[in-house]
Amino acid sequence: MRYIIAVLVIVSLGFGMEVSTKRWKSGLTFSHYIEEHNISYSLLDGISEEDKKFLTELQSGTLYYELTNPKGELIQSLIPLNQEMQIHLFREPKGGYHFDIISIAYDEKRYFADVTITSNPYSDTLATLHQANVAKRVSYALKGAVDTRNLRKGDHLAFSYKQRTRLGKLYQMPDIEVVSITSRGQEHFVYTDEEGKGYSESDKRVSYTKKGDLIKKVRIYDRSDRFGMPLRHVRITSSFSYRRWHPILHRYRPHHGTDFGARRGTPLLAVYSGRVSFAGWMGGYGKVVKIRHPRGYESLYAHQSRIRVHRGQRVKKGQIIGYVGSTGRSTGPHLHFGLQRNGRWVNPMRVLKRESLSKKYRTITIKGAKAKKRRLQQFMRQPNPLFHVWSKEEQ
Ligand SMILES: [Zn+2]
Repeated sequence: MRYIIAVLVIVSLGFGMEVSTKRWKSGLTFSHYIEEHNISYSLLDGISEEDKKFLTELQSGTLYYELTNPKGELIQSLIPLNQEMQIHLFREPKGGYHFDIISIAYDEKRYFADVTITSNPYSDTLATLHQANVAKRVSYALKGAVDTRNLRKGDHLAFSYKQRTRLGKLYQMPDIEVVSITSRGQEHFVYTDEEGKGYSESDKRVSYTKKGDLIKKVRIYDRSDRFGMPLRHVRITSSFSYRRWHPILHRYRPHHGTDFGARRGTPLLAVYSGRVSFAGWMGGYGKVVKIRHPRGYESLYAHQSRIRVHRGQRVKKGQIIGYVGSTGRSTGPHLHFGLQRNGRWVNPMRVLKRESLSKKYRTITIKGAKAKKRRLQQFMRQPNPLFHVWSKEEQ
């Protein structure tokens, strides 16, 4: 790309040609485009079916380059199709046009930065570097890896990132490589994977290879192994809350569960396989079944009209364990469903919809982590580290 533009400029100097930047008009197709430039439709015959599909991806608003001669005839154009590829159309010296799809060339450079915390990583990075995307990516990297609320005024962030530029302007999102956080005299490092997600070096499950790559095991979300619902048809009448007006007790009380509306006698289903830890009467809950599941979860099904399991019994996910009723402190037939994790009440709907119970791991490798850290430390050792601040012209 740089080479092509250089050629364009030299040629234009010599022959009074003009390079212009344009925006692809909404609704404009490639065949319209060649028609506008009086290029024969036969050009299209030489384009493969695969490339023709590509041409339909032309997006309105895309910036592209045109070189025209003093007569206004198109000499060359470069029209991006996506982040990677562009159309290269040019007039051949002997007449006729040549069509090609080529990759977009860009420059990529590593930058360092040093940011002093006054409020939060995002706004402080933005104020220091004047580049919103870097600020976004830095705070995204830190988000999952450290608790940024613990940062205090005067703490420091130093980081390295790679930024691509094309024709002197920012191109694509920056990639944060490693962030150093110095807070209250303690320093630690956060690395990022390909998606920019951050991993703290001080994490227990982190190790290094001989080559200095960082290895981390992360639990992955397995959709096939989630909780089920306690009823076949789910209608929530009251949600989990730490403070709710109690209709019978007439005062504010926490509601440690989700209420589902259902007719008396509707079957209640185990939300996951496990062992029945309680089956019987439990005060205001009336007839109750509790089931212990893997990973410290225990589910509770209250106000039942009839219990169908006994203590110690193994149950499968979806198995009927009892029936909806109104026993105990209840205003009418409904299921009060509670869920505990390690003895603490949690919002059932949040867990039922999202959590997976099987442990599956994926290994994340961050190539050259140690080298990245070394480079950043080198930058930080300078007495007054200078770094690049982005100007308006570069954005
Ligand atoms: Zn309830």
